[in-house]
Amino acid sequence: MSNTPEDSARDLLSRMRIGGIWEPEGLGLTYMRTGETEIELVTQDNTAFSAQARIRMKVLIQGIDWTVKEEDTQIIEPKSEDPFTRHMENTVRRQEMAQNNWRCPNQDCGCLMSAFVLEEGEWLFHGQSEYESPNGDLEEVEQWAVSLTCPVCGTVTEMEPYDFGLLAGDEIMLSYQSSVAKFTALERPEIIEMMDSNSSNLVITGTFCPFSGEILPPHVRGAVVKFEPVKEDEGNVEEE
Ligand SMILES: [Zn+2]
Repeated sequence: MSNTPEDSARDLLSRMRIGGIWEPEGLGLTYMRTGETEIELVTQDNTAFSAQARIRMKVLIQGIDWTVKEEDTQIIEPKSEDPFTRHMENTVRRQEMAQNNWRCPNQDCGCLMSAFVLEEGEWLFHGQSEYESPNGDLEEVEQWAVSLTCPVCGTVTEMEPYDFGLLAGDEIMLSYQSSVAKFTALERPEIIEMMDSNSSNLVITGTFCPFSGEILPPHVRGAVVKFEPVKEDEGNVEEE
């Protein structure tokens, strides 16, 4: 099954959440979904290439009966040639957009999601689903979501893990609480210090919590982590 560019664009846009960010690979353009069939061009790199891509994208998007808002588009200098630096800059920009724009889905509320208690985001495993890879193979992919509760109106909403990472920032993503223990990923100097002092509060994570057997979200796996028992009633991890 080969999709036309119009099919692909329609599919991609309709799956984005309102406030979701789209940066078509290599074009130097950043879009945000702002309505049912509306996106806004938030930034364009200050290059002739991006200026032309902007026109092509507009034709494509209008061709599928979506609206592109361009009144407030910022023209930004592509700051770095270095792909790694550029990637970092893009990530920071996406984080800012998420933190300044994403709101409680209850339209009567509108509380910014960056004001939610993000540390209390609950990771939910929704099982496996099949996904068709670009070369046509079927792959099993784990479905995860993070559940958040609005502190103002109590609305519960689920987010994609990537979106949650943008909103929450790296710090929050470094620790995770299973039902029995809190895990915190360690940097090399901390690992060395803990090994030198024969600390026993160190584990290397796999797919499952070593204490409860429950499945861990992918970002927690394959890391050297410090663990602390959860202080609440049933939390009692034996330290050896
Ligand atoms: Zn709310």
